[in-house]
This record gives sequence, structure tokens and C-alpha cells, in this order.
Amino acid sequence: MASTLAKVEEAPAIGIDLGTTYSCVAVWQHDRVEIIANDQGNRTTPSYVAFTDTAVRFIGDAAKNQVASNPVNTVFDAKRLIGRRFKDVSVQDDMKLWPFTVTSGPGGQPMIEVSYKGEKKQFAAEEISSMVLSKMKETAESYLGAAVKKAVVTVPAYFNDAQRQATKDAGVIAGLNVMRIINEPTAAAIAYALDEKSSNTGEKNVLIFDLGGGTFDVSILTIEEGIFEVKATAGDTHLGGEDFDNRMVSHFVQEFKRKHKKDISGNAKALRRLRTACERAKRGLSSSTQIKVEVDSLFEGIDFYSSITQAKFEEMNLDLFKRCMEIVEICLTDAKMEKSALHEVVLVGGSSRIPKVQKLLQQLLNGKELCKRINPDEAVAYGAAVQAAILAGTMVQEVVLVDVTPLSLGIETIGEVFNIVVPRNTTIPTRKEKIFTTVKDNQTSVLFKVYEGERTKSTDNNLLGKFVLSDILIAPVGVPQLNVCFDMDANGILHVSAEDMTTTSKNQVTITNDKGRLSAEEIENMVKEAEKLNAEEEEHKRKLGAKKALENYIITTRRKINNRHASSNLPATEKKKMEDAIEQAMQWLNGDTLHEADEYQEKMEDLAKLCNPILVASTPHFRTMDGTLPKKPKYEIID
Ligand code: ADP
Ligand code: MG
Repeated sequence: MASTLAKVEEAPAIGIDLGTTYSCVAVWQHDRVEIIANDQGNRTTPSYVAFTDTAVRFIGDAAKNQVASNPVNTVFDAKRLIGRRFKDVSVQDDMKLWPFTVTSGPGGQPMIEVSYKGEKKQFAAEEISSMVLSKMKETAESYLGAAVKKAVVTVPAYFNDAQRQATKDAGVIAGLNVMRIINEPTAAAIAYALDEKSSNTGEKNVLIFDLGGGTFDVSILTIEEGIFEVKATAGDTHLGGEDFDNRMVSHFVQEFKRKHKKDISGNAKALRRLRTACERAKRGLSSSTQIKVEVDSLFEGIDFYSSITQAKFEEMNLDLFKRCMEIVEICLTDAKMEKSALHEVVLVGGSSRIPKVQKLLQQLLNGKELCKRINPDEAVAYGAAVQAAILAGTMVQEVVLVDVTPLSLGIETIGEVFNIVVPRNTTIPTRKEKIFTTVKDNQTSVLFKVYEGERTKSTDNNLLGKFVLSDILIAPVGVPQLNVCFDMDANGILHVSAEDMTTTSKNQVTITNDKGRLSAEEIENMVKEAEKLNAEEEEHKRKLGAKKALENYIITTRRKINNRHASSNLPATEKKKMEDAIEQAMQWLNGDTLHEADEYQEKMEDLAKLCNPILVASTPHFRTMDGTLPKKPKYEIID
């Protein structure tokens, strides 16, 4: 059994790239960044959590590997839900594609419904993400041999306030002190800025091309004296590696139809197994020109053996690759930047390893060399680890790393006009104030609606929250002076308050919890729930370990009995006595219920009490010199 870590010492702060499809963890140690492999030896871990009818919960590779047999209880894409509302168009659209159920929670937040231990259970996206974060934390802990407390977690540049706050909450539920939430492209740029020791002078324009599993993001940043400024972002929330996998799956479904005259497209399990094989083949095609695709007994007992060439793969995805290039052009236009003004082009995301993608990008940028020194799927975690080390003070860096607001922030004024208080690209943390007034005589209260976005009409932007400031000075229109303050912390989390300047009694209010954010109490409950789940799983593992130990004892004892009997030292009556006891124990062991660990231990001791003396007695040289039996044997729990 895996030993429980003695978590006495505190490990260094870690960096976590919490991805839509894969996550990655890294740490700054011995003057360099180390990407930490998980228990399967993989440097990225699927952002998957699976629930089963026993107390076993799978996270990461183990969860993704069993998806074919347990689709409705295997949860992924939590990042597409985090910080969103159930009724959001994107949530409604995504739901149609998921095999798991999403319902609306009491506060209008999306809740993921699964069956766990035979019961229906609902989890918020924060909780699912917290489980992935816990897995990354544990991966780091077993590598570092100490408890991890602090982390920097990354989010996409376009994530709004609620999504950032919810990601931070997920960290808290996982038992992490999230020192800072930083933008993924900024993290990737930090990784390269650190790696690039030379010419650190002057402003640099960097394009971050992040093609991942399910999303594509392009960002243009400028870096000057350690200030990272996101100039523009563009992307497609449904374009990535999984689309390339799907194309390959369709290709092989057709091939199967041609070869075997059978249509597998209605068989979810067969399709999933084929998809797994396709993803593997796709990765292989990034370094080989041809790859075999083999799935044993794919459909109705038919083995599927085929292969695919790099050229064929490129042809079937060319329109998707070209779409990526169009988005790069859109981003350049938005940033008002010429291709020639780019100093660096950084590849991020596992799918940016595809040679054709790199070739098209290089062509688009007039032959510019692409930065590939750091593995694309590790660059974000790499930068997060650097940021974590800087914040924890374990790495001394002269440059300050600064982030900016990705979108403008402001409030709605009469006629649905969006009135900006914090312009986009303001370096954070920031605090900005603006005075507003009433629109009617003797108005006693004002409704403040806080938006983010770049459109002039408030309702075309994203509503972050609203609150009412009441008890304002009774006065003619335009007289009261209402001071609105936007305060954004270094994590990009926003606090808005308003105050009536004309009355001596200050009337301070902050945004009501109307984004469906988690309250401190809810987070506390989720932390407790996570601890409970972990404790139950530990207990379950302990039971399984004790069961296994009893099983091992029975097997070895059986073997000994048969050996002894062969050498006829063992009387038949004694043999029968032991065999009966063993048979009985075996039946109890193989019954449907999983017993308490102590019960297995007791059963084993009872058996030992009966069998060991007989076995020892039937082996003459086992008898001690004075004729007494050896001491009670010690049982080792073997996994
Ligand atoms: P995320 O989008 O969740 O941040 P990643 O950046 O790790 O995740 O990208 C994951 C995607 O990258 C998956 O679709 C995976 O199949 C793909 N991928 C990983 N390695 C390769 C490779 N060598 N060639 C092509 N695609 C790859
Ligand atoms: Mg990513």
C-alpha cells in the first residue's frame, strides 16, 4: 500500500496550468524549473474526474482511461463551466456535447450531477476543478516529499472576474493558498523571458500561439522592463486537438464501413476506444510520417488494423489549421501590429507540436523562426512556477512581473451607456475612482450595474454584478456626488463600491453576490466535503489493502498445505481442518460486501492461529530447539 506522506516540511510554491483537457505542474528548484511527472510518468495529466459506485474516485489518467465504461460519471471540461451561469449561452451549448448531466443550482450556477457510491450527487465546477488541482498538488508532494501549500494557478487571458475568483476558490477547496492567478499567455511569455538571457533591453512584441485540446488562443503581448502587457487576444473556444481526433475518428469509421460493411457510429463504447487510439496516433504523427492504428475487437469482435500517414492527417484537418491562421491575423489586426513588428512567436499547447501547424504559422509570418525551446504543453506551468518562486521569495528577480486588465470595466449610465472606469490593459493591481450623480430630482437610491467589455452599449458587454446604493442625499437632479471605486487586486479580482460624497454619513456598498459566486460559507462546506471524500477514499484503500493481505495469506497457506501434504508430513485430519477454515474464509472474502479493515485482520489472525502451529509442527526443522513453536508470525500487507 502507498504509504501516507509524512507532511512535515513545507515544499516550495508550485505553478499549476489548470487546462481544459490537460493540466501540468511545475516547481522552481535548484535554480531551474522542473516539470513534475505524475504517478503514471506523464508530464501532463488529463483534467478528468470519474466517480464510481464504490468509494473510489479517479482523477487524471485513471479517470480518462475508464471513460468508455463509465461515460455519464466521468467529468471533464469543468473549465468551460467555472465562474459561469447555468443559463449562459455557452453553457447551454456545451451541455449538448457532454455525456454527463448539468443542472441549475439554487443560485443559478451550473451543477454537475453524477452517481457516486450509488447515490446522486451534485458538484460545482469549482469542486471538480479542485479535485484536479488536488491531484496536481499530490503529484508535486510525492516528488518534493513535503506538503505543498502555495501555488500560482493560470487562467486564459479572456477569463472574467467571476471565472478568476471561481478558479481561486477551487484552489482553496484543494487546500492551496493561491498566491496569484495569472494569465496563461503571460505565464508562457515569462517562461521564455526567463529562458532568454540575452538582449533584455527595449520593448518586445511577443505572439503567443496556444493550440490546446479544446481551445485555441492567440495573444499579443508587449514586454518591457518586466511589464507584461496583453495587447490583444483572439481565439476560438471550440478548436483544438479534440477536433483533430474527431476528424480521424470519422475517417476510420468510414474505413470500417468499407472494409467490414458495418457501421460503428452508433456504438459509443467502440467510438471512444477508437478515439483513444486516434489521439495516440495523432501524437505519433508529430514525429513520424506514418502510424499504425490498431484496436482489438473494436466492434462485434472484429479487430481493426489500419494506419494513417501524416499527409492524410494534414489533409483532413487543413481547414481547421487554416482557421487558426485566420485567427492569428485577426489578433494582429486587433493589436494594430504588423507581422514584421513581432520579436518572438511562442508555441504553446500540445497541438502546436503538429508540424503542419508550425509550417503554416511560419509561412504566415514570412518565415519567422518559432520559439520551441520549452515544450509547448509545459510552457504555461513553467512560467507559473517562475512566478510562484518570485512571489514566495525563493527566486530573486530584478524585473517585476505585472499583468493587466484584459477588458475595460465600468458601470451603466442612463440610456444603456457603458461608462468606463478602468480602461482595458491597465496594469494591475489598480484602484480607480469616478464621480457619478442622480438623474431625477429627490432620487433616493441608485442601481449600479457593473460591466466588462469594449462595446459602447452596456448591454452588449458582460454584466459582472449590480448593487443598490440607497439613502442618498435628497436633492435636485445632478446634485448628489456619488463616488464609485473600482479596486482590482493582483489576481484580477474586482471589488466595486460606491459612496455618497454629499452626506457626512458614508454609504458604502460592495457588489452583491449576484454572479452566483461561492460564499465563504459555501467554500468552507466544499473544503469539508473534499476532506470527507478524501478520508473515505483513504478508508476504502485501507480496506482493500487488508482484503488483499488476507487473500495473499490464504494463497500462500494453501500452497504450503499442498507442499506439506506432498511430503506427507501433514496428517489428513489436520489438512482437512485447515482446508475447511480456508474455504470458509475465502467465501467470506469473496462475498459482495467490503468489510472493515480490522475484520480482515481478525480473520487472518484466526486462520493463522489455526494453520501456523500445524504447518510449523509438520515441518520438523521449523521446531525450535526446546520444542516450543516459533513466535507469532508478523503479517506484512502486500499490495
Ligand atoms: P489544454 O488545451 O487543456 O491546455 P494541452 O495544451 O496540454 O491542453 O493540449 C492537449 C492537446 O494536445 C490534446 O488534444 C493532445 O492530444 C494534444 N497533443 C499532445 N501532444 C501532442 C503531439 N505530440 N502532437 C499532436 N498533438 C498533441
Ligand atoms: Mg492550455
